[in-house]
Amino acid sequence: MRQSTLFVKTSKNLPKDEISESARLLLRAGFADKLMAGVYTLLPLGFKVFKKIEQIIREEMESIGGQEIFMPALQPKENWEKTGRWQSLDILFRLSAGESREIALGPTHEEIVTPLAGRFIKSYRDLPFAVFHIQNKFRNEKRAKSGLLRGREFVMKDLYSFHADQADLDGYYEKAKLSYRRIFSRCGLGDCTYLTYASGGSFSKYSHEFQTVSPAGEDLIYLCPKCSVAVNKEIIADVKHSCPQCGQKDLIEEKAIEVGNIFQLGSKFSTAFGLKFSNEQGENRPVLMGCYGIGLQRLLATVIETHHDQKGMIWPAAIAPAAVHLLALNLENEDAKKSAEKLYRDLRTARIEVLFDDRIGLSAGEKFAEADLFGLPCRVVASARTLAAGKLEVKKRSDNKTDFLAPADLIAFLRGQN
Ligand code: ATP
Ligand code: MG
Repeated sequence: MRQSTLFVKTSKNLPKDEISESARLLLRAGFADKLMAGVYTLLPLGFKVFKKIEQIIREEMESIGGQEIFMPALQPKENWEKTGRWQSLDILFRLSAGESREIALGPTHEEIVTPLAGRFIKSYRDLPFAVFHIQNKFRNEKRAKSGLLRGREFVMKDLYSFHADQADLDGYYEKAKLSYRRIFSRCGLGDCTYLTYASGGSFSKYSHEFQTVSPAGEDLIYLCPKCSVAVNKEIIADVKHSCPQCGQKDLIEEKAIEVGNIFQLGSKFSTAFGLKFSNEQGENRPVLMGCYGIGLQRLLATVIETHHDQKGMIWPAAIAPAAVHLLALNLENEDAKKSAEKLYRDLRTARIEVLFDDRIGLSAGEKFAEADLFGLPCRVVASARTLAAGKLEVKKRSDNKTDFLAPADLIAFLRGQN
């Protein structure tokens, strides 16, 4: 992608009410735009990151047998009345659809997926299965002050699993835990994200959250340094200060961001919607369910919260908008321009994703500052001076060391980075 053709520019004028560091960096860099509190547009480079995160999540959900579907955001009031949540859910957007008809803007999809599954489940032979979708959610969050970490409109991956018995649900739940670990590791959050015991509702003792330690977090967790698990402060007082796995009492209090959660719903929703199956003895039993959520913008913003410095973002390679930021300097010099254009062509031919700063009239300092702000993993500088000496300047965003390479060696060097 050529930076000269990007319709978006970086910006120094940020909305005064934007206090979230990740949101400020995204807005400054032109990766996102703010429409109103809790509602953001993803712009080309921000959307590239989003799509990479989406693809990682999709691959991991398919690896545990999830079948991808796409459910509507507009939902009938009747479904929400069946579970009592039309009244009780404070963040629900209730819309008037004219002629005394009301509908909900979906904040989650248990009320849709449960009756949907009911159309296809008759007997134990139809179980188990899992479906997921990656789709917009709407929540009238009271405090939408954390930028993309807490949106009023955001994309969630929600997976729902359906089981004949508790052992089958437990087995799947453990597989989902492992797939969540892989997702957060692949997105660069492996080292700072903890499986966290949270309150479980009426059907299981605990649910589990995946909490990323960060000062930007709205949650407080207690970390067990030995087991690398944590307990959410919200949980009942008696387990609060001891590790649920080893019993250790010296837990470390940290602020953390809930990047995902998994929950055993048991028969809560199947009872509300009459979702039953007939077992091998021909008896009707309620289907058991689990639900598993991840907020995509929240995950993206969490990566920035944990991967940035004063100069800007520092993207992990797997989700960076591109692998290489190629900065061409001295473009008024015909030889320098030709060499930079050839490098850009060669990188593309080698299928290495590259953002090419081919803009004329900017100083080297301005280009360097933007490269640091955007945070692509590797910066390659092609200037008249170094090219004349047969060299390129190559630097990783995550360290301060600069290498000098012959242009012919660049592609092999970059491939070696991954
Ligand atoms: P929170 O405790 O942060 O309010 P929640 O427990 O209500 O979230 P769920 O309803 O279980 O969250 O949603 C599943 C996942 O969706 C969360 O783990 C989080 O990653 C994401 N998520 C929830 N609310 C938001 C939001 N307002 N903006 C962005 N992502 C969200
Ligand atoms: Mg929560």
